[in-house]
Amino acid sequence: MINVTKTYLPSFEEYTAVLKRAWDKGWITNNGELVQELEAKQKDYLGVENFLFTNNGTLPLQMALKVFNITKEVITTPFSYVATTNAILWQGCKPVFADIHPETFNIDASKIEDLITPDTQAILATHVYGIPCDVDAIASIAKKHGLKVIYDGAHAFGCVLNGKSLLSYGDIATCSFHATKLFHTVEGGCIISKDVEIARQLMLYRQFGHEYNDYFSEGVNGKNSEFHAAMGLCVLPKIDAIIAERKRISVQYDAAFSSFIQRPLMNDTLVYNYGYYPVVFETELRLLSVVESLKQKGISGRRYFYPSLNELPYLQKQRCPISEDISRRVLCLPLYVGLQQKEIETIIEWTSKIMEPC
Ligand SMILES: *Cc1c(COP(=O)(O)O)cnc(C)c1O
Repeated sequence: MINVTKTYLPSFEEYTAVLKRAWDKGWITNNGELVQELEAKQKDYLGVENFLFTNNGTLPLQMALKVFNITKEVITTPFSYVATTNAILWQGCKPVFADIHPETFNIDASKIEDLITPDTQAILATHVYGIPCDVDAIASIAKKHGLKVIYDGAHAFGCVLNGKSLLSYGDIATCSFHATKLFHTVEGGCIISKDVEIARQLMLYRQFGHEYNDYFSEGVNGKNSEFHAAMGLCVLPKIDAIIAERKRISVQYDAAFSSFIQRPLMNDTLVYNYGYYPVVFETELRLLSVVESLKQKGISGRRYFYPSLNELPYLQKQRCPISEDISRRVLCLPLYVGLQQKEIETIIEWTSKIMEPC
């Protein structure tokens, strides 16, 4: 089966050679040498300060809401992975959905202000597929209304906007290093903050709120281990080559599909990470028929992101017609290092057949 993504793995020997450093010391978690080295290298690669490696990409969203004392309404995007909305709910806050822009599939900044109430405290938006939100418009709305801006940058690793990592925008940005993501540490993630004081509080949250015998605050366990850091140290040096290979595949898809398929629009000044290859079909029926015929060829596309999060069955109904429509018609095609040329051609052939106008 060809899946939508396949985890990039270093050779077993490469991995164990790095891991051996922790093994020999008998130090396998609690801010060990490999975690510290990975954090330093990540900061350097991304060009950011105040970077904390965490055990996944969901807890940082909760920590971000917590550190800013967000307890009421959060304006958010309906077009993301469910973790974005669930983090808001888990913190006891209310998600208020602003519909997405029909071209970028990101939260439509022009729809945010109408949703602001006296209870609104933050905007939590996703750079979906690594495509930047309208960061300038969002920053100015936030400033005008005294709101915090948190970006779920789970897809944004390696994306560069205006010469800066996309993860450097917002009061806080998070990323996921899950095995299905572009850069991975098996499980893992990070939280990046603008402010040094906030970064220190997040560092304490990550380790139960205390440092040795000094107890400062509430906290959780957001740490990650030497085993995970070792994977990150193996994958990070390969990340530019991984992005280049994904670009090579994406360019072939572009050449085959561009004339008759809708794709999310990317900002001109974006250096993209080729994390996903979403395509939007004319109708959900066509999408289902592509999914079915690819399945017969042993190829699976993934309905990222479906359903639109405003339609989650445990939420009070809020309408987001554009997100509902796009989420029913969007499919991510397989894109990963190791996808064979023959497989790429099969995907192109079968997808084109069904996409062509009737
Ligand atoms: C994957 C993902 C997450 C969750 O990350 P985990 O590391 O799996 O916890 C959060 N938000 C978005 C948009 C994601 O795609």
